[in-house]
Amino acid sequence: MTDIMDRIKLAAPELDESALKAIEMDVWIENGAIYLVAAYLEKKSYQKVIIVADDITYEIAGRTLEETIDRVGIANQVTIIKPNSQGDVIADEASIIQLVIDLQQFTPDIIIAAGSGTIHDISRYAAYTTGIPFVSVPTAPSVDGFNSKGAPIILRGEKKTIQAIGPDAIFADLSILTQAPQAMVAAGFGDMIGKYTSLFDWKFGSIVAGEPYSVAVADITRNALLSCVEQVEQIAERDEEGIRTLISSLIESGLAMLLFGQSHSASGAEHHLSHYWEMEYIRLGKRQLLHGAKVGVACIQVSRLYHQLAAAPFAEELVAEATNKIQVERVTAIQAHWEEIQQEIKNIPDADTLATLLQQVGGPSVPSEIGIEEELLDRSLHEAHHVRMNRFTLLRARNELTQIK
Ligand SMILES: [Zn+2]
Repeated sequence: MTDIMDRIKLAAPELDESALKAIEMDVWIENGAIYLVAAYLEKKSYQKVIIVADDITYEIAGRTLEETIDRVGIANQVTIIKPNSQGDVIADEASIIQLVIDLQQFTPDIIIAAGSGTIHDISRYAAYTTGIPFVSVPTAPSVDGFNSKGAPIILRGEKKTIQAIGPDAIFADLSILTQAPQAMVAAGFGDMIGKYTSLFDWKFGSIVAGEPYSVAVADITRNALLSCVEQVEQIAERDEEGIRTLISSLIESGLAMLLFGQSHSASGAEHHLSHYWEMEYIRLGKRQLLHGAKVGVACIQVSRLYHQLAAAPFAEELVAEATNKIQVERVTAIQAHWEEIQQEIKNIPDADTLATLLQQVGGPSVPSEIGIEEELLDRSLHEAHHVRMNRFTLLRARNELTQIK
């Protein structure tokens, strides 16, 4: 844990001990971390364990966990979450109930989530529902949600993020994570690159709509983002240092969200686009794309749009066009802070720079690469803010306040 907590303290020196204590969890980021799980369970006196995996992550981590836990004599059972009819393992009602039934029948006192983000979301929500803790064994550095409390769940085809629980401990085994497929590493990098626009949108929401803001939480997230950008080559090569930086940054972004209690720091318009595309794919019965791949591509689109908006002076006619009291308030706030907003947008790298970064790690950078067609892209740029109506992003402002020209 020390490395991560040290980085957090450096990024946000104003945080006091009680704030740090509130988010502290046991985190191991090292070669062979998976072999520490059995000893951890013994030390905590757990007697019955369910290991949750899918077909693929069982081979990567589940089997080793099963064998090492067998060896210390702790009763265990494996739940392999089944894919849907498209062949994807998704965090929907069916997956959650599959696990909940196993939990009710086997009555373990802890769950081990062994897999990527989806396995964690299923485990997190099922653990929360049945009132037992879970620990995390990520099999790819693909997402910043391993240690979040929010579980994004697909319920009747709609994506909802439900507050659940975070893990008690994370065992990030570098010898596993460095072997993760390039596409998953690129997805993790894409999820981090998305912080450029999420951090902007958060600042924007705080300036224009009075949304709560924390400089410390923003600093932790920005520090994690910049360390990934600095090490883009090592991450692309999937060398140990690069992957250590990527998984540390993903965990730090998760801890920043825990510290703040909400996801503002890590999720803005780029995530709303990604969620919109995901729901469209579910509706059409198409195969799912990696979360971070969508976020990276979406971030480029949002950057392009925001830079276009920032290139122009504030459109005075918007004040007259506002149709209700809230709109008048928001437009007036944008008008009053337009120069500051333009300055903040300048901190977001332009679309070409972001595309180069994503291409360096082998990730997609244009919508067509991930099968997002022009019509869906255009529609999502106009409607995606509906995904999270409790956030006031610049995308939402642009769509609701007629146009910021
Ligand atoms: Zn994300």
